[in-house]
Amino acid sequence: MMRWPSLRNWPAVIGLGLLGLLAATFVHLGFVQPSHATLQAPAAQIHPLPAALEQWRDPQQQGDYFDQIKVTRVGYLVWSHFPVKVYVQPAPESLPLIQEKWPQAVDQAIQDWQAYFPLEITPDISQADIVISAVDPTQRSQGRIRSAETRFKLYVDEQQRLSHRYTIQVRTNQTQTYIAAAVRHELGHALGIWGHSPLETDALYFAQVRTPAPISARDMNTLKRVYQQPTRLGWPVQSSDAPSAP
Ligand SMILES: [Zn+2]
Repeated sequence: MMRWPSLRNWPAVIGLGLLGLLAATFVHLGFVQPSHATLQAPAAQIHPLPAALEQWRDPQQQGDYFDQIKVTRVGYLVWSHFPVKVYVQPAPESLPLIQEKWPQAVDQAIQDWQAYFPLEITPDISQADIVISAVDPTQRSQGRIRSAETRFKLYVDEQQRLSHRYTIQVRTNQTQTYIAAAVRHELGHALGIWGHSPLETDALYFAQVRTPAPISARDMNTLKRVYQQPTRLGWPVQSSDAPSAP
């Protein structure tokens, strides 16, 4: 059986970075990790594609923007258990004007992706892979105000697999159409398109446009290529009590 390289033996930047993320996430999720244990990151391997992506074809061969996709220290941000579960936070009570349009806009964006990708709404936030929430537009954050933001965190799941979880925050001082477009775009990031298209006819175009694009063949060609790449996500980490040999 192969032994994966211990995090301790990785180049300092990569090793410390991943260890830092894991440690932070352990605290966040309430795991207790013995201080003497060594976490060993799984090697990057390719997962089987979900059926919907396996079957995706683009007979017109409209190309992709795979060269714009960033590789993270855990590899490509690929899901390996399906359906991916989404939890939608209700709009905060401080935002009475969006109580109706918020859930409708998010539902629309989720349905747009469900035509192409196994995605499911969960009523249980603890089961969620992706949490989508509305941000009060009157609360100014520091720096530039974006219409939406997507972040991920790493953690080790119950089966000891290196896993990721996203939060998507969307500012709600927009029309329902624009909120739906913003969520559609951010969901594209969370499903694995960790980069932007240079063409405004793609949902993952880098800027907001007057007429938001639907999910395009190029978005799907890019997503399919991402899922054909290796990742450390979804494979078991190993934890050993003994320090690894030098
Ligand atoms: Zn984006």
